[in-house]
Amino acid sequence: MDKTSRLYQDIEPELLITREQIAARVKELGAQITKDYEGRKLTCLSILKGSILFFADMIREIDLPLTIDFMQTSSYGEDTKSSGVVRILKDLDHSIARRDVLIIEDIIDSGLTLSYLKRVLADRGASSIKIVTLLDKPEGRRVELNAEYVGFEIPKAFVVGYGLDYAEVYRNLPDIGILKPCIYE
Ligand code: 5GP
Repeated sequence: MDKTSRLYQDIEPELLITREQIAARVKELGAQITKDYEGRKLTCLSILKGSILFFADMIREIDLPLTIDFMQTSSYGEDTKSSGVVRILKDLDHSIARRDVLIIEDIIDSGLTLSYLKRVLADRGASSIKIVTLLDKPEGRRVELNAEYVGFEIPKAFVVGYGLDYAEVYRNLPDIGILKPCIYE
């Protein structure tokens, strides 16, 4: 998609993270994860829907036999702030007992979603549970939660693109940008 496309008019003109920066960082993370998970029973877990683009790119940079599964939790709806209430809208299809689970997430803000999910997955007997997040907003944290692998730390703005939405739109933007406040205010 070209940067003159209609969708780019709704984000700040200076892109936060370009598609080229994303691709380079995903490659680096993939190399690290490949090294760390050598010889283990890896299951990569996508948290729908925001992580789909990152997930698809990320697993192709992990040079190991692995399985995939999907889970969907409630999002912010049409709001740009977390309610703190997490609901599982779609559960896993397969058991994760004795598997090394790598959660592939688009963004961590308050940390509420993933700290809840980590507890749910731990109760199901996973051997280990780690997180790779493309974006991290450490300033937004409301619970203690850290990802083992972080693509980029970003400031406290509301971002869209590369899978991230506002009211289900903008997921197909190839770059990540800050949504202009006039769109949601
Ligand atoms: P947390 O539970 O860590 O507050 O929120 C995690 C989820 O909130 C993410 O998976 C994502 O769906 C949503 N989220 C948090 N910050 C942003 C943001 O800047 N942009 C978008 N589009 N979603 C966000």
